[in-house]
Amino acid sequence: MKRESVILPSQDALPIKRPDMTIPEFTPPRRLLLGPGPSLVHPRVLRALSSPLLGHLDPVFLSVMNDIQVSLRAVFQTANRFTIAISGTGSAGMEASIVNVVEPGDCVVVGINGVFGNRIASVVERCGGKVIRVEAAWGTCIEPDAIEQALVRSGPVKAVAIVHAETSTGAWQPLEDIGALCRRHEALFIVDAVTSLGGIPVEVDRVGIDVCYSGSQKCLSCPPGLSPFTMNDRAVGIMKSRRSQCPSWYLDMGLIDGYWSEGLRVYHHTPPVSMLYALREALRLVEEEGLPARYTRHQMNSDALVAGLKELGLVPLPAGGRALPMLNCMTLPAHIPEADIRAKLLSYYGIDIGAGLGPLKGKVWRIGLMGESSTEAHVLTLLNALESLFIEGGWLATPGVALQAASRMYSRLPDRR
Ligand SMILES: *Cc1c(COP(=O)(O)O)cnc(C)c1O
Repeated sequence: MKRESVILPSQDALPIKRPDMTIPEFTPPRRLLLGPGPSLVHPRVLRALSSPLLGHLDPVFLSVMNDIQVSLRAVFQTANRFTIAISGTGSAGMEASIVNVVEPGDCVVVGINGVFGNRIASVVERCGGKVIRVEAAWGTCIEPDAIEQALVRSGPVKAVAIVHAETSTGAWQPLEDIGALCRRHEALFIVDAVTSLGGIPVEVDRVGIDVCYSGSQKCLSCPPGLSPFTMNDRAVGIMKSRRSQCPSWYLDMGLIDGYWSEGLRVYHHTPPVSMLYALREALRLVEEEGLPARYTRHQMNSDALVAGLKELGLVPLPAGGRALPMLNCMTLPAHIPEADIRAKLLSYYGIDIGAGLGPLKGKVWRIGLMGESSTEAHVLTLLNALESLFIEGGWLATPGVALQAASRMYSRLPDRR
């Protein structure tokens, strides 16, 4: 029998070769992550990430998934059966929230007061939905009256979508009144809790939220890559009775429910096994601390930071008690070269803080104190570094004022050792 000759491409025709055969080992520099996420990760979570893999249908792994569901219900403050972690970042949760319930032609009222409201609107449009924009100035919140007007004026509305913690402006959106409006007008209430979950109360059931999503890398202090997600029976019912097929296969929650549900466990896609270990451990840390203590810690460190920054002439952007504790959006005096100082914070001190986005570019800093990043030591470290840079630039005459202001806040705490 004659063997067919195999034609191999010549060596020269092989695609791009690397100049040397090995790439060096990579060790990331030490960083103090005080930006809009990712936040610092506890060593226990890093250890969980390096645990050996299990198969995605191994009964032991299925019990890891069950544990995550139980813990997520606790942080979301919900009894929703459908409570899972989506494989993907916070934006995947956002997309899943819209793509499963919005059909072509559906009206969705979207609160827009920053980057993430705009992103929701864009997702709705891509699903063929009609966006009814309820806008507010960046740094302010959406008023329930404005939502009500939109609901009254626009006939049947499928859903109202709003961002709880607007990471681009630091605004803390009250949800309760809007939740009540959604009930009255029979619209689904969709809430972006990417930055808020684990840092301020997210009370899904009490507030009447129908669909809620978050991200792993903000106040839960896990690496980015998972999106905690919960949906009540009302939303599941609407998803199941849709006229058209969900346009996303990967984020089809009807299919994904088949994998997360006890007794079903049908393969859909291979979940990021190691990330789920990490989330389980991060949620254990949340449970050990307790939600009330966690909320208090976030608020207290923010109060101290803001007290210090005010001494440097910075002013919180959101006014009137609407400022988030985990994302401190601070307006800078016009004479301060913000980009230059931010670059020096990173190169001299290894401190990473966030810049302003869109209309706030060059005008604000977004300082995140999320999860593991929210500690007294980190607040004092940042203030000390900023004082040094401000003195160097000639913008601060008296050293120590910011640190003292922060320390005064801490010394007022009742359970101070
Ligand atoms: C970070 C963030 C998102 C997007 O999350 P990714 O993990 O970056 O995809 C969505 N909404 C808000 C409010 C956020 O802060």
